[in-house]
Amino acid sequence: MTRDFVYTALPMRVVFGAGALRRLPDEVAALGLTRVLVLCSAEQASTGEVVADALGERAAGVLPEARMHVPVEVAHRARALAAEVGADGCVAVGGGSAIGLGKAIALEHGLPVVAVPTTYAGSEMTPIWGLTEGGTKRTGRDPRVLPRSVLYDPELTLTLPAELSAASGLNAIAHAVEGLYAPDASPILSLMAEEGARALATALPAVVADGGDLDARVEAQYGAWLCGAVLGATTMSLHHKLCHALGGNLDLPHAQTHAAVLPHALAYNAPAAARAVAVLSRALGAPEPALALWELAGRLGVPRSLRALGMAEDDIVRVAGLAVASPYANPRPVTRDAVETLLRAAWSGAPPHLPRDQGVPR
Ligand code: NAD
Repeated sequence: MTRDFVYTALPMRVVFGAGALRRLPDEVAALGLTRVLVLCSAEQASTGEVVADALGERAAGVLPEARMHVPVEVAHRARALAAEVGADGCVAVGGGSAIGLGKAIALEHGLPVVAVPTTYAGSEMTPIWGLTEGGTKRTGRDPRVLPRSVLYDPELTLTLPAELSAASGLNAIAHAVEGLYAPDASPILSLMAEEGARALATALPAVVADGGDLDARVEAQYGAWLCGAVLGATTMSLHHKLCHALGGNLDLPHAQTHAAVLPHALAYNAPAAARAVAVLSRALGAPEPALALWELAGRLGVPRSLRALGMAEDDIVRVAGLAVASPYANPRPVTRDAVETLLRAAWSGAPPHLPRDQGVPR
């Protein structure tokens, strides 16, 4: 068994714990910031105001306009407002959409971002930015967009609705899955991926049963942190490429799309990723992790079909074409036929085709 690897640790500061929001003013001050723009979505405008109040004189304003996939017109507005109010940094509070908007400002103006994540998406731990223009989403990596400080306060996740909590948690597990078979996987990231997947799979049923269960929220966000860190440090493969094509072109909801596709993408790659499967089996306590994730989604009440998310069957062929348009690392060769078969299963919500169904020995 070979164990060659290269590992580059990202410079990240994390403050974690119930009530951590109270430490935000100190975190902002420690970075030397005196006028920060608070970013959030329209739905979380009141949370944005709470954050601005907590910051007192260090808050230069609130922009409650973050939207999924960072439309360029929103990014332009946010950059202009940051310049107008003389902001020297941003505090992004919310899910990947709010943090993505902070990254869009950082990309252009180099302003430091402090992230206060309230979903399990993981953007706060990555140097990956995204911008959408004319229905096409561009993404890239730039160290300037990596948040300087991340405050995880599980109390802020108590309001995240059950279905979104579950889908977002499965989105996080997808980072662990692909990090385990990534070309730049490493032993430390595998430990983080295993523990992250375990924590989320354990916590999510309790979160869905009672969204106000703070212990379960703590465990879920702890898992999300680990999975986000894996996302930030590795190169993603087929599953993330497929979800990018589905989200960017059909405007499907981000977390739910990940939840519906993940069991099928993992089942496809499993025959070529024995070590990843062994780790995930341990983390999920099940011999077939792809099937376990499909069953978990069912138990959590997350839609298991892309059809339920509004995708038309006719779009399968087009999206399969997009997903194979440019090459990327993946444990198994990616063919258009294979992607079409995978998408058909994910579209219908059928159980994943396990390696034995695919005629592939383990
Ligand atoms: P989101 O940020 O779009 O949030 C979904 C909805 O939930 C929003 O209306 C939001 O206001 C609401 N919400 C969030 N937290 C809440 C809470 N605690 N209580 C009540 N409502 C709450 O969804 P997301 O899945 O976190 O992020 C998706 C976006 O992030 C996509 O654009 C995706 O591409 C991007 N993303 C980027 C990265 C990266 O590394 N760059 C990683 C993951 C996701």
